[in-house]
Amino acid sequence: MNRRFRAALGGVLLSLVLTSVASAAPTPGARSLGDPLLPLLGNGGYDVQHYDLNINYNPVTNAMTSIATITSKATQDLSEFSLDFRGLNVTSVTVGGQPAAAVARDADKLIITPATAPLNSSTFTTVVAYNGVPVEVTDPDGTKEGWIRTSDGSFVVNEPMGAMSYYPNNNHPIDKATYDMSITVPSTHTALGNGELASKVDNGNGTTTWNWHMGYPMASYLSTTTVGVFDYTMTLGPTAKGFAGNPLELHNALESTFTAAQKASANTSIAREDAITKFLSDVYGPYPFDSVGVVADRLPASLGYVLEVQTKIHFPSSSVSVNTLAHEITHQWFGNSVSLKSWSDIWLNEGWATWSQWNWTNKQNNGITPAQQFLNNYNSTSNPTRWNVATAVVPTAADIFDTFPVYTRGAMTLEALRQIIGDGAFMELARTWVTEHRFGNATTADFIALAKRIARDRSGFEASNLAKLDTFFQQWLYTPAKPTMTPTTFFQRTDVPGSVDGTVPGTLALTIGPPVKFGAFTPGVARDYTATTTANVVSTAGDAALTVTDPSTTAPGRLVNGTYSLPQALQARISPSGVFGALSGTPLALQSYTAPISNDLLTVEFKQPIAATDPLRTGDYAKTVVFTLSTTSP
Ligand SMILES: [Zn+2]
Repeated sequence: MNRRFRAALGGVLLSLVLTSVASAAPTPGARSLGDPLLPLLGNGGYDVQHYDLNINYNPVTNAMTSIATITSKATQDLSEFSLDFRGLNVTSVTVGGQPAAAVARDADKLIITPATAPLNSSTFTTVVAYNGVPVEVTDPDGTKEGWIRTSDGSFVVNEPMGAMSYYPNNNHPIDKATYDMSITVPSTHTALGNGELASKVDNGNGTTTWNWHMGYPMASYLSTTTVGVFDYTMTLGPTAKGFAGNPLELHNALESTFTAAQKASANTSIAREDAITKFLSDVYGPYPFDSVGVVADRLPASLGYVLEVQTKIHFPSSSVSVNTLAHEITHQWFGNSVSLKSWSDIWLNEGWATWSQWNWTNKQNNGITPAQQFLNNYNSTSNPTRWNVATAVVPTAADIFDTFPVYTRGAMTLEALRQIIGDGAFMELARTWVTEHRFGNATTADFIALAKRIARDRSGFEASNLAKLDTFFQQWLYTPAKPTMTPTTFFQRTDVPGSVDGTVPGTLALTIGPPVKFGAFTPGVARDYTATTTANVVSTAGDAALTVTDPSTTAPGRLVNGTYSLPQALQARISPSGVFGALSGTPLALQSYTAPISNDLLTVEFKQPIAATDPLRTGDYAKTVVFTLSTTSP
């Protein structure tokens, strides 16, 4: 901070306060976006539309002279607003072309008082000129991020808070914006920004300016301006397409001083980039950006993570695992295009990326199935306390990237859901999620609501199973203990007033249709009343039997109205060929199978005989019966 600069601006601030008394309306924007885990990040009162970063960087001294031009839309009449910014010297600030009335620094906030307050809904441009040597950021889990110094420049990765180390920004994923990045470096070096290379200009003085354009919304934690001496290539994917429909641009950069063997190894994985993106596009729908790429650099100290930087996946060594690459490319849909509203929902990024990595590795790289991954993790008895952190209730900012609760248990939640609602419905859920929230933000509550909608519309789940899905999500996402509801136990025992139950050992699934209604019984008239519902049977067992029972202790097998019961038993059969049998407290066989069966949709017919002399009492006669699908050879 330049002390003299700050004092001079302080005098201007005083005069502004006096003049603003008359207009009174504009108020300061909030200095937080209220994130439960990282409350210091983000700022209120405006919504950034676009960042234009002009960075002039010297990789020898690690110093920069930069200008950030930030186009924002005011969400209130704004007397003052803040940006997240750490270190670096601010040399001038203008808002709407006028020098700011005041500029102050408070911890990681750059606080700007415009000479003229932007009015609500108006678009205004803030230009911040700054210089200095950026410093890396240590985040709450102790890892390094932000502007990380390398021997030949910088390695820039920012999740969750590092972006403030090199440009002033609204540092929370809820405020996404498009970007242009102009990075001037010695012509010996490569500067890598997000998106596509709009132009590369030789300035004739030994420097080159790399102009990158990211035309789709991006969270600031996914930005980069990595600089170094790289083997950089741009090719077009032979099979994968970008969001605009053109061949996918592949921008890859390997640290030039990696050995030939290191480069060959990295390139073996990079060679699959196009095919991975094509595979994932076939699974999730259109790839959301126009380019993808790998940046692999040498760092002075182990970083400990790979980052899904938007369109430029950053590896902190020459080790480029193809399975990790599938994980990070998946993030371009899950996390980058569909972003978090709150860091406590981080499992929406990492659970999906991990499940997708399991799925890709199984289908394309000889890995075990996601179902086996689920079983191995669920049945493992090692480290039982790993279940004590709930997936969607990460306790502190230091736990955002905890492997088991966020990544593994998040992926297990998705795999269990896939088995419960069925593969077709699950893939429709994934595609609908990335389509409905594309380029936006979403929450765990949004995800649960969509999962239930798809389960209802696509899997035919009625009220009882939808309620059980609530229990399922409560256990898997919000409870700090090992869930008991699994794909196996989900369908065991469903009790619904009127007509439904399923008991499912192993891979049996039973879905019962709407409640049975006989309508009105007419006293004094002998008649058989009939009504139907449906039963959908799925069984991979060697044998299976569908039965119906009345488990009640009051007049078993007979409809009751308070303390009264009908004299004749309720009967049931599979229509049209089955034979009616009387319900009782012991199971009545309806249908049996001697081989696996997929989606056998049965009509279950109930018959209630009423004799002319049977006494009937005004009111509703009803019973809860239980359907059971069972096997002796699961
Ligand atoms: Zn990840």
